[in-house]
Amino acid sequence: MAIARVEPLTTSRVLRGPFDYRLPSRFEAVDVGSVLVVPFGRWRVIGVVVELAERSEIDPSRLVEPVAALEAGAPPELVRLGLWVAREYCSTPARGLSLVLPPGAAGGRAARPALERRVRLMPAGAAALAGATALGPRQRAVLERLAEADGRAAPAGDLGGLARPETLRRLARRDLVSVEDVERRRVPSATPLGAAPGDVRLNRSQREAVGRVCAALDRSGGSPELLLHGVTGSGKTEVYLAAAAAALERGRGAIVLVPEIGLAPQTVHRFQARLGDRVAVLHSGLSAGERADEWRRLDRGDARVAVGPRSAIFAPVGALGLIVIDEEHETSYKQEGDPRYDAREVARKRAAEAHAVLVAGSATPRPESWAQLERIELEGRATGAALPEVEVLDMRDRPGAEGLLHERTIAALTDLRRQRGKAIVLAGRRGFAPHLVCRACGRGWTCPACDVSLVLHRPASLRCHHCGRAEPVPDACPDCGSVSIARVGAGTQQVQDALAAAADLPVVRLDSDAAGRRGAHAEILARFEREPAAILVGTQMVAKGHDFPDVVLGVVVDADATLRFADFRAEERTFALIAQLAGRSGRGDRPGRVLVQTLAPAARPIAAAARHDAPGFLASELERRRALRYPPFSHLARVELAAAAEATLDQAAAGLRDRLAELVAPEVQLLGPAPLHRRRGRHRRQLLLKGDERRQLVEPIRGALDAAGVAPGFRGVAVAADLDPQ
Ligand code: ADP
Ligand code: ZN
Ligand code: ZN
Repeated sequence: MAIARVEPLTTSRVLRGPFDYRLPSRFEAVDVGSVLVVPFGRWRVIGVVVELAERSEIDPSRLVEPVAALEAGAPPELVRLGLWVAREYCSTPARGLSLVLPPGAAGGRAARPALERRVRLMPAGAAALAGATALGPRQRAVLERLAEADGRAAPAGDLGGLARPETLRRLARRDLVSVEDVERRRVPSATPLGAAPGDVRLNRSQREAVGRVCAALDRSGGSPELLLHGVTGSGKTEVYLAAAAAALERGRGAIVLVPEIGLAPQTVHRFQARLGDRVAVLHSGLSAGERADEWRRLDRGDARVAVGPRSAIFAPVGALGLIVIDEEHETSYKQEGDPRYDAREVARKRAAEAHAVLVAGSATPRPESWAQLERIELEGRATGAALPEVEVLDMRDRPGAEGLLHERTIAALTDLRRQRGKAIVLAGRRGFAPHLVCRACGRGWTCPACDVSLVLHRPASLRCHHCGRAEPVPDACPDCGSVSIARVGAGTQQVQDALAAAADLPVVRLDSDAAGRRGAHAEILARFEREPAAILVGTQMVAKGHDFPDVVLGVVVDADATLRFADFRAEERTFALIAQLAGRSGRGDRPGRVLVQTLAPAARPIAAAARHDAPGFLASELERRRALRYPPFSHLARVELAAAAEATLDQAAAGLRDRLAELVAPEVQLLGPAPLHRRRGRHRRQLLLKGDERRQLVEPIRGALDAAGVAPGFRGVAVAADLDPQ
């Protein structure tokens, strides 16, 4: 008897699949990865076949049959990957499987291919035109039009008003024409930005890099993990392109991961320009139909290279030979919702299973990758352009708003107009000012639902960056009545004003406020590109991905902003941000210059970035991590609890802590529960675990979470685990 083990796609932790179903012969085509509609108690649910078996533990007479099978399913190796993600990130099988299913399938409605009706003239039709058979005027007109198509099938739409369904049906019945419905691909509209460079002759270090990838592709067994390190503009993307072409030549497919697609349109465009139709692009900006078609093209092997953000790691690429992770240091590779997977770790797992080569690339790699992957260096910039000179500007004795820009910054900005050059300016946060404070009594303004400072925005409003709540700006302090209210700190809007005042140039702002609307991001960049001389100001977004040849100046307004985060990755982030901004400057034929304003000019990441010294910074950072036992010398996990009622939450957090303490090995550190600031009116607590091995954390957390799922004290408490948190 054929048995299908089915994991129902319900998110409950309590329901433990898989469940066995009997497969009668009409379900012959069902395989691992098939999506079934199955009876479940009194309901019908969607489920995924995770295993086929000969027999079941359950009495055969009690087994029921599926109701139906969906046409689309996932390849078996992706089912295994989805279940692995669920296990490794302490999520549910349903959530893990949803990641790997064809678009729409998890909801039971896999998007169908779009069909187009095509009509072709048959020999009898040609004979009829020659007078052999009687034809109505409409029929004759259709046949005449088809005769012009020289035997090719014409889209019914092209026959205009002539091709009424009825006319076609009559003609087809007499075998004068053939009518067929063929799939029509919904092609995603590309948004090319700037010209895609043509073929370049790889330089020596690029050729060596490609050689290393090819050697790895040709080695049987094993799955080498390579780190391609080279400054921005060193030609890494050219190496990825050549590596993908090499994989294709060997009959193998490739996945190319890029940070958020909005930040990497140029990379995507270069892959499409070089590899054409063999590239499928997967991202959230596609319509449901486009996404389904791109997925299907990969699944069938019509396209062999998938390019997309983190979720593209689950693309159905067969005979996978290569996985590229562009800008591997980017935080967007970590998913923030359940399952909180890290696409870089999933990539390692998938590459290992497929015996594929992993190539992670960055100008500012993570210390983890620096320590763990096999390194390939690209020397200097591919175009021969020099790296910009980085100048650190000490801001320590400049209080007040005049102090926002250093006089050397102002001088450099003023010079832009004369030079006909552009600048990119990195400011800390969006909005006008991060805090309001009453000068008389010191009162601050916080979000009533989130315990964080409300940010002053223009047009005048106070906004919470966590929940989006907006309030009017107060005229006076409600506590003491004072009308003297100070604006503390500078957001992008205020920096924009200061820049406009300092330099008589167009200032274009790019942050999530300005780029919120779909397509706005690309429009802003296009505007900046059009201007002969201009300034682009914004949050971290401005330091990523773009290649504008006429940028000659980069400015970091407050380099300490990222350093102030109480996070062991603060140094790493600060270094990466400055180095990435430096990478945007001086990429054309003019040398670039970078000004870094800071209150901590001697800070290690700032000093190292000023020397363009990634190896030096990474070596010292790894030393520090080793001493403090931080990743990669340990593994961290976070368990977050959230609830509306604080007392319930505290009890649940204490209960979960006790449960974890019983389950973890004695050498695992368990910290908390510690309070986190409220978010959207919900109180939050956090437990932190630190262990030498990931395994020591995953199993106990999963056990504790499963137990919590059924415990009465956890009603109304949301619990989520985050392994290797950012
Ligand atoms: P990265 O990905 O490291 O930032 P890119 O591959 O985007 O670098 O290359 C940076 C610039 O240098 C691009 O404009 C690219 O066309 C050019 N380039 C890359 N390799 C070469 C080469 N071998 N010869 C000439 N120009 C090159
Ligand atoms: Zn006051
Ligand atoms: Zn809020």
